[in-house]
Amino acid sequence: MDFELTDELKLLQQTARRFTDEELIPQELQVDEHSRVSEGAHERIFERSCREGLWPMNVPRELGGLGSSVLAQVIVQEQAGRSTNHLWDYVGGPYNALMRCNQAQRKKYLDPALRGEWTASYAVTEPGAGSDTGNLQTTAVKRGDQYIINGEKWFVTGGEKGIAVIVHTVTAPGEETLFLVDHGTPGMRIKRIPRFMNRTQDEHPEFVFEDCAVHESQILGGLGEADSISKAWFREERLHIAARCLGAGQRLMEEMKAWCEERETFGRKLYEHQGIGWLLADSATELYAARLMTYKTAWEEDAGMSDIKELHTKASMAKVYASEMANRVADRAVQAFGGRGYCCDYAVERLFRDTRVDRIWEGTSEMMRTIILNGVMKRDLDELLR
Ligand SMILES: Cc1cc2nc3c(=O)[nH]c(=O)nc-3n(C[C@H](O)[C@H](O)[C@H](O)COP(=O)(O)OP(=O)(O)OC[C@H]3O[C@@H](n4cnc5c(N)ncnc54)[C@H](O)[C@@H]3O)c2cc1C
Repeated sequence: MDFELTDELKLLQQTARRFTDEELIPQELQVDEHSRVSEGAHERIFERSCREGLWPMNVPRELGGLGSSVLAQVIVQEQAGRSTNHLWDYVGGPYNALMRCNQAQRKKYLDPALRGEWTASYAVTEPGAGSDTGNLQTTAVKRGDQYIINGEKWFVTGGEKGIAVIVHTVTAPGEETLFLVDHGTPGMRIKRIPRFMNRTQDEHPEFVFEDCAVHESQILGGLGEADSISKAWFREERLHIAARCLGAGQRLMEEMKAWCEERETFGRKLYEHQGIGWLLADSATELYAARLMTYKTAWEEDAGMSDIKELHTKASMAKVYASEMANRVADRAVQAFGGRGYCCDYAVERLFRDTRVDRIWEGTSEMMRTIILNGVMKRDLDELLR
């Protein structure tokens, strides 16, 4: 067994780490206070991300992307995940659903995404359907060469900006279809922009669709393709969430270690008090386990060792374990920092808020366990857990 990264991957890791340290981390407090990076920084950061091979990694070369391996993507996501306030958004690539654009749609939607001009937004969740996506109520009914969309979509990350929203609809009983709905289309409106626990450059608006007519040419990927496109997105993003949680865990450990060496109480360094020292020991152990699991899943996908269903199970394992690990490490770090851990000046406080959503979005921890259980019951255990 060889667990060593290739020289090429090590170089990429260093590049992503430097990018994170020099471009993303310096913007954290600015975004935490103002929900945007400093004046003029946005274009510069995106330009550097593209120039240094950190965007668009998930899109194949034949479509104009970098066609990076899954492991390379995971390594970059991990480094960017060391930053707070979701500044990791500057690496990786757009929603992979955009790869399903047909020739005519590419110029308008995919190509600007490859240039980093937008990342798209993806509207699946509804007031009555989050985990339970079998209960989606938003319909798109054919009328001539148009579809009439009615329904409500919630928590659409980045939905307030960009060119269009990808909307998941029911086109017939048992048939679900995605539409690219341009901003400004009559009948689509933002109903409310709720506030959330952390502060990022994205809002998560609620949308209402009232007799919103879109031309049939706005279908993304074909009639009835929504489910398979969404699953491809979930598989990619769940592994990326796991990777970013590794980065969050790493930064939390770095902050905690430095603080526990610096701070003294009762004549001893903090880490010399067993109650605090063991927080570091447990965190290191769990971070190490999560990293092995996430890297190996990525490596198996690149090596073509697992079929799609097995990859879903393993991406779910990586997501649930790494996100819960990051939340435990964040909680310990806040404790080790004492009162400072509760103060917004410190990265541990921001990561405590940031990592909470990783147990919820792109499938909650409970849904991940449901998927994993399904894999356990249907598959050979020696094969699944090799
Ligand atoms: C910041 C943020 C950004 C988001 N961005 C997007 C986005 O861009 N696009 C989008 O479509 N959605 C987005 N979401 C929505 C997110 O995907 C959902 O919130 C998530 O899938 C959970 O759905 P829900 O909130 O309806 O919870 P529910 O499905 O109502 O679940 C509530 C709780 O019950 C648990 N539960 C439900 N059913 C079961 C069961 N059978 N067994 C055990 N436990 C169960 C869940 O795990 C959860 O803990 C975002 C959410 C947040 C917070």
